[in-house]
Amino acid sequence: MAAGDYPLLTAKQKYCQAFCTAEEIEVAENIRRFVDREVMPHRHDLEGGWHRDEKLALATLHRLYARCVELQLTQANLPKEYGGLGLGPVVRQMVNEELSRADIGLATMVGKIHWVVSLMVAAKRDDLLREFAPRITGGEVWTACVAITEPAGGANLEDPALEGRTIRTVARRDGDSYVIKGHKIWPGPAGALERFRSEHMKGHLGYWTVATTDPALGEEGIGVFYVPADAEGLSFSRPYEKMGFVWSDENVDIWYDNVRIPEKYRIDTQPGEGARLVRGYIIGLGRLAGAARLTGLSQAVLEIVLDYTKNRSIAGTPVRERSMFAGMIAEMFRAIELSRQYYLATTWMVTHPEIYGPPWSPQMVARFSAARSFAADTAELVTNRAMELMGSYGYAYEFHVEKYMRDFKIVKMWLGGAQRDRLDIAQGLYGPFKWAGMEEWVRAQGLLPGASG
Ligand SMILES: Cc1cc2nc3c(=O)[nH]c(=O)nc-3n(C[C@H](O)[C@H](O)[C@H](O)COP(=O)(O)OP(=O)(O)OC[C@H]3O[C@@H](n4cnc5c(N)ncnc54)[C@H](O)[C@@H]3O)c2cc1C
Repeated sequence: MAAGDYPLLTAKQKYCQAFCTAEEIEVAENIRRFVDREVMPHRHDLEGGWHRDEKLALATLHRLYARCVELQLTQANLPKEYGGLGLGPVVRQMVNEELSRADIGLATMVGKIHWVVSLMVAAKRDDLLREFAPRITGGEVWTACVAITEPAGGANLEDPALEGRTIRTVARRDGDSYVIKGHKIWPGPAGALERFRSEHMKGHLGYWTVATTDPALGEEGIGVFYVPADAEGLSFSRPYEKMGFVWSDENVDIWYDNVRIPEKYRIDTQPGEGARLVRGYIIGLGRLAGAARLTGLSQAVLEIVLDYTKNRSIAGTPVRERSMFAGMIAEMFRAIELSRQYYLATTWMVTHPEIYGPPWSPQMVARFSAARSFAADTAELVTNRAMELMGSYGYAYEFHVEKYMRDFKIVKMWLGGAQRDRLDIAQGLYGPFKWAGMEEWVRAQGLLPGASG
């Protein structure tokens, strides 16, 4: 299988030059070549094969992630003055799409570095970028994590109407430090340091943690705090057992037991900036990256279907030439193409905040959410159709469709999920709305400003 066999699926044809340059398309072509040569043949190994051999999974993951680091894919959005590639946001999306053709978990791992870099760039934290850049550009292999979700609900934390009042991880100022107490669930890759040390990996950079200085302050209290992976007072559960992303995104509980960090590790420095970073750069750009990844995954499945239906026949005619099959394949392509052109257009808009608004504006968050939710619905359609077109072979481990089907689902559900996407689209259209009964609830919880004394 090679995307080159299908002209419409090549980088030259699929990335519209209204949104990117010929040089950027060349970067995408190079990534695709790497993916076809070095990642595609090891897709099963990334899950440890049929028998889920943890050793094989981790060795493969760390080796391929190290190759991504060597190829500087993690440096895409780190500005040149810090030694990064300083490429535009569209290249970040191309990295996501092209890697996800093979493994959306590996793409997510690479994307974690883009995510934390984008936060520090947005907050203009020259000091922190200088501190972290040597570990991102120096040839060593590190991973990183953003911790948002809490036991009381991920989507709640991402709800603009709740203004951060449900965040229970609290960072209290103490002299020139912050002391963090709280509990996060589901962040990944996360956990004990030894999980991230191997022949190919150096370690874990740490946790960019969403917390509040006081829930009663609402949006003004929200901050993003960098917590080193070996900070005193940090502890982890064992990795969760789950449907996919088993090793590429090890998720755990994190307990912050009075973790003390220097003041400089609060990423936001301006009033209200923490909330803007969370909405625009963690949730917003996180969803946009998800849209690109889901599109790459969908393309991979379409390629499998095209190959399979070429070689399967009904009465001597390849099934893909039978009108019913052709129509279903055309619908799969249509949805993938629209997902891609829409996420590319939205990415282009990010580079023109003077026209479309900053990434945290309700209008841009609506677009990020539309991009992710449409790409997720596309992945759902494409993986389902693929199985139907391929019959039992689609269901078989050997053909990979079952893996893509397991994987797309969580990219649809994380960062607030499908319903939160739709609510954010509505709020971008006709303005923010409050939950009925919210004010009474806030009062009853003692979360009005000043209530916590
Ligand atoms: C593999 C994996 C990786 C993850 N990685 C990370 C990570 O790196 N960092 C991190 O912090 N978290 C991470 N998560 C957590 C994930 O982002 C959350 O699970 C997700 O945001 C949903 O939160 P929840 O599970 O608490 O569900 P809930 O918030 O309880 O929501 C459950 C469902 O209800 C819907 N819903 C919630 N509120 C509303 C509402 N007001 N109106 C309508 N519908 C609503 C949601 O859309 C969702 O479908 C990860 C999860 C998984 C499985």
